[in-house]
Amino acid sequence: MSNYKTDTLCVQAGYKPETGESRIPQICQSTTFYYGETQAMADLFDLKANGFFYSRLANPTVEALEKKITALEGGAYALGCASGMSAILLTVMTVCGAGDNIVCASEIYGGTYNLFAVTLPKFGIECRFFNADDSAEKINSLIDKNTKLVFAETIANPAIVVLDFDKISAICKQQGVLFAVDNTLATPALCRPAEWGVDIVIHSTTKYMDGHAAALGGMIVDCGTFVFKNNPRYPAFNTPDESYHGLVYADLTVAFGTKCRAQMMRDTGAIMSPQNAFLTYIGSDTLALRMERHSRNAEKVALYLKNHPKIEWVKYAALDDSPYRALAQKYLPNGCGGMMSFGIKGGSKACARFMEALKLVTQETHVADVRSCILHPASTTHRQLSDKQLEEAGIAPNLVRLSVGIEAVEDIISDVENALKSV
Ligand SMILES: *Cc1c(COP(=O)(O)O)cnc(C)c1O
Repeated sequence: MSNYKTDTLCVQAGYKPETGESRIPQICQSTTFYYGETQAMADLFDLKANGFFYSRLANPTVEALEKKITALEGGAYALGCASGMSAILLTVMTVCGAGDNIVCASEIYGGTYNLFAVTLPKFGIECRFFNADDSAEKINSLIDKNTKLVFAETIANPAIVVLDFDKISAICKQQGVLFAVDNTLATPALCRPAEWGVDIVIHSTTKYMDGHAAALGGMIVDCGTFVFKNNPRYPAFNTPDESYHGLVYADLTVAFGTKCRAQMMRDTGAIMSPQNAFLTYIGSDTLALRMERHSRNAEKVALYLKNHPKIEWVKYAALDDSPYRALAQKYLPNGCGGMMSFGIKGGSKACARFMEALKLVTQETHVADVRSCILHPASTTHRQLSDKQLEEAGIAPNLVRLSVGIEAVEDIISDVENALKSV
């Protein structure tokens, strides 16, 4: 399956029926699974056999989606989570304990920023932020012996910064630190982080992967590349897990993924529901098609906005004058997706007037679905941040975040055009 191209994997990977079985995965709505023999059950608990026994740990519908996204990302193993946020939390929990730290790009999704900057420190996990444009030396200097994870986003939401994979991956390889990337806004249709030295790929499947604003979900893909064995940075992977029959995770082919499920999923129960896995599975059939259309539409909208006299600036990496143009050409050769941000002349008030005058494009706390939607982060998703934190996260008070959908681009542009008249 892995030799096929993305478009093919979107519709064919993850699930293959046997004769007489349903063509698409069914919603397996069951908490538990029957076993007639005690030994068969014991083998499952010992991870000696594969099988389902309780839907807090694994479920067949969720597994179909896990396998599809594993194939799409070119990874080794994946875990479906209840949301993008739980996927990020479980990733952190799998490698960090009190006293450890994470080194993270500051241009990230607002929810992730809160988790890292406010909530995790309460549990003794420190987060050290760098700016995407910082030099390799500066980023490297943040790493010490307690650094367990380096984290960034392929396309940062809402700052629309494109990640310099090579710069960060070189540091991680040299230091032997795990490199995790949130690939939500690029999706494997536009970028496969595993090809650029990333060890763990994270998704909020709530966004493009589902694509229809129907289901919350998250995914953790273990690319199977990171060597935990005898790496002094990760003693918990190299010593027996007493809560799991003395298992040494570093000895397994999928060390991170197994630990994440066996310990963290077991202890948190943050698994994706079968219903949401089903909806996301169906939605992701058209991922490659949609990403192509999102990208082409967004390129035209960005160009239109850039030439509009009431627009101060536009951030979209496919624009000729974007500082991230070269990185986009390297890492996102097929398009930059539908997300952009722009500044309206006249500040926060002008933004509000513009947004209220839109008819087709709707105001929502959501991005990356088939319908165009728009948000003013400074007054909504990021309102709890101070001016300084806003600046660090790359968010100006007049920043409007636009998620360009797959409608006819002429209709999107004329809606924007009309609404700008009232500014
Ligand atoms: C939305 C989003 C998340 C959080 O995902 P949820 O499914 O809403 O929990 C994480 N990262 C990025 C880049 C996002 O856009």
